[in-house]
Amino acid sequence: MQIIDGKYISNQIKQEIAQEVSNLAMQGKRPPRLAVIIVGHNGGSETYVANKMKACEQVGFVSTKIAFEEDVTEQQLLEQIQVLNENPQIDGFIVQLPLPPHIDEHKVMEAIDYHKDVDGLHPVNIGKAVLGLPCIHSATPSGILELLFRYGIETKGKHVVVIGRSNIVGKPVANLLIQKDFLGNATVTICHSYTQNLREICLSADIIIVAVGHPHFLTAEMVREGAVVIDVGITRIADATKKNGYRVSGDVDFDNVAPKCSYITPVPGGVGPMTIAMLLRNTLHAYKQNQK
Ligand code: NAD
Repeated sequence: MQIIDGKYISNQIKQEIAQEVSNLAMQGKRPPRLAVIIVGHNGGSETYVANKMKACEQVGFVSTKIAFEEDVTEQQLLEQIQVLNENPQIDGFIVQLPLPPHIDEHKVMEAIDYHKDVDGLHPVNIGKAVLGLPCIHSATPSGILELLFRYGIETKGKHVVVIGRSNIVGKPVANLLIQKDFLGNATVTICHSYTQNLREICLSADIIIVAVGHPHFLTAEMVREGAVVIDVGITRIADATKKNGYRVSGDVDFDNVAPKCSYITPVPGGVGPMTIAMLLRNTLHAYKQNQK
């Protein structure tokens, strides 16, 4: 069994990006610029945004945080998005989700200029991804494919079972894996809360990608010997022994599943760090397009 070290790979990617940014500086060019909009004071979101801004700094990007209180109106948010859309100095920006219930997330995503949509969540980017056209791909799914690629894990002709059908993980990762592409060509089964015989389906998988948000959801009797398991789940569990009062759990019963696997991602340190690395890569891509 080999652990897929997402922290190590994400650091490698960050170094590659930092090198490109320093090459740009040597050519007298400005660094890429990312803006992050955050609404309210959700602890998880604030931590994610802080980590994204720190990662920007590490690779030499300029980042700007635009914070609104919980009671911001949808109109105010849409106006801010328009300002960023029109600012040529901003290469890409994201709106940290979730948003408060009085704001329509779909409306917000659609308002973003899709060239600057470095989260890859705009319907144009999602549609292009389905058609297999060049576009900005959402960060977590591309991070998963990058991990498989860098560990030399073949997807061509393999049976991949994706558990979870969210717009940010399940659907886009399944879409990437079925593309006629060298990181695709898999046979994909998408499972969700109404799937029957989940255990049997999982037992026929070469690769299982689980994004459900329930700790210990994937148990050893659902995994065949030699399978690859990618754990996307992130759930905070109260833990008084930790400095911040919680620990993070994935969706896999790691201790019992890992011995059966050929490869497995840990939580933390698996898919999570890749999501930020792919956001940086998307921002660099948007910058290059913006410079053309
Ligand atoms: P979600 O929370 O929107 O939805 C959960 C999915 O699980 C649904 O599609 C549902 O159909 C499925 N599901 C629920 N119960 C099920 C069951 N009994 N059998 C089969 N499927 C079932 O999904 P999400 O936004 O993709 O988040 C899933 C997890 O991944 C969460 O823990 C989230 O925090 C985490 N996540 C991690 C990253 C990362 O960077 N590592 C990124 C995004 C999400």
